[in-house]
Amino acid sequence: MKSMDKIVSLCKRRGFLFQSSEIYGGIQGFWDYGPLGVELKRNLKDAWWHDMISGHNELVAPAAAPGPFEMVGLDCTIIMHPQVWKCSGHYDLFHDHMVDCRETKKRYRFDQVRGRWVDYADRDQKIFVTTMADIETELDEVRRRAMKFFKLRNKDADKLSIANESLTIDKLDSTQNVLAPDAKTLDTLTEPREFNLMFKTTLGALGGEDDTTFLRPETAQGIFVNFKNVLDSSRVRIPFGIGQVGKSFRNEITPRNFTFRSREFEQMEIEFFCHPDESQAWYRYWRDRRLAWYTQLGLSGESLIMREHHQEELAHYSVGTADIEYAFPFLPEGEYGELEGIAHRGDFDLRSHMEGKLNPATQPMEVELGEDGKPKHRGSGRDLSYRDEVTNNKFVPHVVEPSAGADRGALAFLCEAYTEDEAPDEKGNMQTRTVMKLHPRLAPIKAAVFPLVKKDGMPEVAQEIYGELKQHMNVFYDEKGAVGRRYRRQDEAGTPFCITVDTESLSDKTVTIRDRDSLKQWRVKIDEVVSDLRTRVNA
Ligand code: ATP
Repeated sequence: MKSMDKIVSLCKRRGFLFQSSEIYGGIQGFWDYGPLGVELKRNLKDAWWHDMISGHNELVAPAAAPGPFEMVGLDCTIIMHPQVWKCSGHYDLFHDHMVDCRETKKRYRFDQVRGRWVDYADRDQKIFVTTMADIETELDEVRRRAMKFFKLRNKDADKLSIANESLTIDKLDSTQNVLAPDAKTLDTLTEPREFNLMFKTTLGALGGEDDTTFLRPETAQGIFVNFKNVLDSSRVRIPFGIGQVGKSFRNEITPRNFTFRSREFEQMEIEFFCHPDESQAWYRYWRDRRLAWYTQLGLSGESLIMREHHQEELAHYSVGTADIEYAFPFLPEGEYGELEGIAHRGDFDLRSHMEGKLNPATQPMEVELGEDGKPKHRGSGRDLSYRDEVTNNKFVPHVVEPSAGADRGALAFLCEAYTEDEAPDEKGNMQTRTVMKLHPRLAPIKAAVFPLVKKDGMPEVAQEIYGELKQHMNVFYDEKGAVGRRYRRQDEAGTPFCITVDTESLSDKTVTIRDRDSLKQWRVKIDEVVSDLRTRVNA
């Protein structure tokens, strides 16, 4: 089991992550990426952008895809017209209810599905124990609910059992964190307060209520409202996807678990537009492709799962949603935290921005009406449907949305990379070494160049190699201290290759390359170093 404390301490010590505004005591839920962290996160976003958008070949259908398709990108603003959030549903629905206990000072949020007030501290652990009498449903129903909270895989359902009128999972018990609605402690609770998770801000110096806007809580809506612009300005035809990477903001009540739940974070989102008849096939394609992307970059087997939502968990408009989840070390064993959600969203978003906010209770969905009988939140009135040039059919496209978090991704790759193994020191004695086994594409520094000693012309040769490599990738030059110690520093930074210039280099024009993970060393001609490393780093 990896220790989160050790990972957090390495991140700070080596400059991956710092607490924001640390010299003033920090600010909860905000994190700064240091010199190594910024490279890692940038590499992750670049890999996503390349693999999903710019490197995509629209002429050839990728393996398992229902057919060829196009991908384009967008970069939208963080502050948008307030009506966007009314039609998307975020204005009415993106909120938590919370109460504070005057005595214990604990804060509780209302869990809609559990139907209970739950300690905020419990949020990411998804632990709860409840009694049969409370739920008043059959065992299957209890299982279904529990699976949702625990985010269990199907095969784990058997772990659930009913004993002593309580539903238990293994030995977990956090009854003290769950308040029954009629609990006596309610007397000591403040009145429930509704709390919208969107950060509010005001436009202009004299802004009143009408000038209230929000920092976007997701990047997706910028894509939906630009759907027609993209169609009209580029030659894309359905099926196609629009991708965007950018900051999102959520006023999480208890940000926690390092960067996992932050108030400011980055998302990498795709909205993939397709014909309704083909949408299920595209949903399956994106679900599997996104899972494969994480494994290709180094997240492994048991640590990574795809959790398909049960029918009852799905949003009213969705025919399928799956979460890609990772076994973060801060979670109890057997539990997973969401890295990315892949959702089939039907035509809900485009239709809402056309017609106004749709009413989840009506099928087919109708525009939601306010108390005055008029539309509660008016849409743009723009026609966001699509006309197929060949068949001349007009339809509102269905959408498949793979929505990933760049910070959660970076954190998962950091956790996965953290390794302690044994390696010989300068004297050949085996020592514990800390090494970040990051995939070369993600590694902040691709190679470090060392002269073995600071004399005999070795630094000059090493500096020349450094200068050449620097034009192609992020490299680091180090001539200070024993070479063994220089290797260790690069191991902790996750640098996959170290190049050493030694006495032989001066005569035969070769250098040693050392592989971070296998510790193997081999010699390469100096004038082949660049091409050799470029191949290895892009591998
Ligand atoms: P959670 O249930 O954990 O709050 P969510 O289901 O609300 O997440 P989405 O709205 O689907 O998340 O957002 C897509 C992705 O954005 C998530 O899979 C996650 O990677 C990232 N994300 C969402 N909220 C946060 C946050 N507070 N901090 C960091 N990343 C986040």
